[in-house]
Amino acid sequence: MANPLTPDVLVDPVELTRTLVDIESVSRHEQAIADNVEEVLRQASHLSVDRLGNTVMARTDLGRDQRVVLAGHLDTVPINDNFPSTVVDDLIYGCGTSDMKSGVALALHLAAGLPDPRYDLTFLFYEAEEIDSKYNGLRLVAESRPEWLLADFAVLLEPTYGVVEAGCQGTLRALVRTTGRRAHTARAWRGVNAIHAAGDVLRRLSDYRARTVTIDGCTYREGLNAVKIHGGVAGNVVPDECVVEVNMRFAPDRTEKQALEHVHEVFEGYEVELTDSAPGALPGLSAAPAREFLAAVGAEPAAKLGWTDVARFAALGIPALNYGPGDPLLAHAPDEHVEIGKIRDGAATLYRWLAS
Ligand SMILES: [Zn+2]
Repeated sequence: MANPLTPDVLVDPVELTRTLVDIESVSRHEQAIADNVEEVLRQASHLSVDRLGNTVMARTDLGRDQRVVLAGHLDTVPINDNFPSTVVDDLIYGCGTSDMKSGVALALHLAAGLPDPRYDLTFLFYEAEEIDSKYNGLRLVAESRPEWLLADFAVLLEPTYGVVEAGCQGTLRALVRTTGRRAHTARAWRGVNAIHAAGDVLRRLSDYRARTVTIDGCTYREGLNAVKIHGGVAGNVVPDECVVEVNMRFAPDRTEKQALEHVHEVFEGYEVELTDSAPGALPGLSAAPAREFLAAVGAEPAAKLGWTDVARFAALGIPALNYGPGDPLLAHAPDEHVEIGKIRDGAATLYRWLAS
C-alpha cells in the first residue's frame, strides 16, 4: 500500500495528525505505522535513521554544541468506536488524537521539514507505551541502544494541552503487615486480633500530612494512601494477620530508597515489605535548551504528578519534560479529540525554539 505520509501531508501538522490517526496502531500492532514513518525519515538527506523493533530513531549530526531529543509513542489504546478520525469544526476526533498522534505529528513534521535546526536533534518514534512496561520501546532502547538517548535535554510530546509539565513524581507500593494470634471467637480472649491492630495503621494514614514540594517553580504534591486491605481466616476465627497495601507518590527530591525509608518511619513497629517502585524525575529546567524552550513557550511550567517516560531520561541524567497539544483528560476516552488550534500553536512554538 502506498505510504499515506506524502510530502503534502508532512508540511501540515494538522493533516499529518489526521493521517497518523488513520493508520491503526494499537499497542503490539505498530509495524505499519513504523514502516511508514521510517520510510519518510529515510528520504530526508539531513537525517540518519535506525530502527529497533517498531521503534524508529532519526538524528541530525550537524556538530551543534547541544543535542535535544523529541520523542513520542506510536501506539494507542484499543479502538473504541473512534476510528478512523472525523473532524467537527476545530476538533479532530479519533483514537490517539490526543494521546499522542498530534504530538508525534509535531515531531515528524519538524524532522522532515527542519534541515538546519539550532541544536542537533534526535527523534524517537517508539512502540508499546500503553501496555506493560516490558514492551516499552523507550525502555528497550535504554537497555540495548542507550547511545540513541544521549542528549542535553528531551521533550516528550505527550498530551499536556500546551502546558509544560516538568519532571514527574516517583511511586512505590508496600505491604504493611499486622500480626496477632489465632483463637476461636468463642474464646477470643485467648487470641490477638490482627485486623483490630490494623486500626492503628489506618489512623497513621488518615493523620498523615503529605508534603508539598516546589522545585524549579514546579509544585509537587505527595500522597500516601491505603489502596487495598485484606485479612481474616473464617467467620469464627480471631485473625492472626492483616495486610494493608499502601501507595506512596513522592516528589522527585526523594530517591526511591529515601521514599522507602520514609514509609518505614511512618509505620515504625510494623513489618513493611516493598512490592514495587519507580523513581521520580527532577524537572531539570536549568539546562540551557530547557530555559530557551520555556522562553519560546512563554508560560510557567507545571509539575507532572503522574509517572511518565520522562523518568527514563532522568535515570540517564538527561533533563526531560512533557509538552504536547493533546488534552490529557481526553486520553483513552471514547470521545478523544484534539483542538486544531493547539496543534498549530505547538508547531509554531517548536519552530520558534528550534529554527536557527
Ligand atoms: Zn501517551
